[in-house]
Amino acid sequence: MNHFEFERDQERHQSASVNRRVFLLGAGSLVSLALAGQLTSRVLAAPKFSADPFSLGVTSGDPLPDGVVLWTRLAPDPLNGGGMTPERVAVEWQVATDEKMQKVVQRGTAWATPELAHSVHAEVRGLQPNRWYWYQFKVGAALSPIGRTRTAPAIGARLDRLAFAFASCQHYEQGLFTAYQHMAAEDLDLVVHLGDYIYEGGMSTSNNRVRQHNGPEIMTLADYRNRHALYKTDPHLQLAHRNFPWVVVWDDHEVDNNYAGVIEEHNAPREDFLKRRAQAYQAYYEHMPLRRSSMPKGPDMQLYRRLSYGNLAEFLMLDTRQYRTDQPCGDGSKVRCAEAFDPNATMTGPQQERWLLDGLSRSRARWNVIGQQVMMAQYDSGVGEEQKFSMDKWDGYPAARNRILSFLLNRRPSNPIVITGDIHSNWVADLKADFDNPKSATVGTEFVGTSISTSGDGSDTRPQVQAQLPENPHIKFHNSQRGYVRCHITPQNWQSDYRVVSAVTTPNAPITTRASFVVENGKAGAQRAE
Ligand code: FE
Ligand code: CA
Repeated sequence: MNHFEFERDQERHQSASVNRRVFLLGAGSLVSLALAGQLTSRVLAAPKFSADPFSLGVTSGDPLPDGVVLWTRLAPDPLNGGGMTPERVAVEWQVATDEKMQKVVQRGTAWATPELAHSVHAEVRGLQPNRWYWYQFKVGAALSPIGRTRTAPAIGARLDRLAFAFASCQHYEQGLFTAYQHMAAEDLDLVVHLGDYIYEGGMSTSNNRVRQHNGPEIMTLADYRNRHALYKTDPHLQLAHRNFPWVVVWDDHEVDNNYAGVIEEHNAPREDFLKRRAQAYQAYYEHMPLRRSSMPKGPDMQLYRRLSYGNLAEFLMLDTRQYRTDQPCGDGSKVRCAEAFDPNATMTGPQQERWLLDGLSRSRARWNVIGQQVMMAQYDSGVGEEQKFSMDKWDGYPAARNRILSFLLNRRPSNPIVITGDIHSNWVADLKADFDNPKSATVGTEFVGTSISTSGDGSDTRPQVQAQLPENPHIKFHNSQRGYVRCHITPQNWQSDYRVVSAVTTPNAPITTRASFVVENGKAGAQRAE
């Protein structure tokens, strides 16, 4: 009975059947179609494509107990604006309980509009909690690949285990996305991306790049769309997207290196930068499985948000770029100047900070996961008496960090775990009430994950870091290879496995677990497993 929607009989997928089906959706859908109809004038009733419109793959994201967001973007010519004519197109979707899409449990139609680059964000509701589903899109005669997704457990429900991986920093030119090929084969409930999903820079002239960016530094909406499309054509990235639901937050390179709020890296005029930021945010929204609540409004976009996994884990996903005050002391790595101690300096903005602390107070989950971008633990890179800090990280915003760490110390939310990206290297750190006093309380644990590909092959250790580690006794581990972090959570403990590939400049590199660290329930701080 489910066959008629999606069967592979090409003749059935002529214009008339698409049109008819649009009007068979029921009253609620008719209302939303009518409303959507006011936005754009023309509907493409009989979509025909010069090439596969699903060239960018499919994904899902932001799981709730009863639904997920299903994403795709119609782009038969992905690197040249997408290749769609400027009409809106009805895209059908189906959700099934089997991988062959035979037991369909939900179906619907979503608009792909030219205003949003013919992206589709279908917010499915009415599914069962904590189970696998498969999904597929259809437009005209074209069928998308089948994706797999998983709903979150019911709110507060008992959950005995959760597996997820987190990743960041996938420079297209600097390495292959082999890590995603391995991630796709893992047994995971969820993938978390912590930023630098794309890089904004121009085509590199160096010839030791494995592949090249499409054009110069991206500045316009068209540029950002083409860059996202380039990244999304990677088959291993597509595979990881297809196999799991994703939760994404950005860092700086989705817009511009080391930007802070309204301030561009090189202090471009504020209005010019806000225009650029608006276009970058829009392209980001268009290419990610985000809910309508994250739809950008001009240069603003609501990205920080909460996800719950039963009574086991609460994910508080932060945006440490949009609301930041400028990096103090002229950015870079240096001895802190007075500006760094400004009590009004902020990484999150006051509103998000209240939301975070309030969320931690109210959470009843066993593990409270703070997903964010830049390293929270102190890292002194000045060997000897002198203390040198990176001004782009929490080290550049000590007052803001102290507010969070004192909250953890005084209010003791259950098992705070910070997961971080940004620095293209693996780290494990105890979060201390006072980093300069190794005897002070450990109030949380931070796992920093390396890049997928940024900075090329990397190496296990760096002599420079080895020399700096004695300055930082709360750091338990460092490694500079490429990969991702796989996490297994139970009510009793948290385990992080640092998965690293041997190379990203040559294809098919194997993956190994370089090290594993465990946090026991009720005991902040990581211990080496094995
Ligand atoms: Fe990066
Ligand atoms: Ca020092």
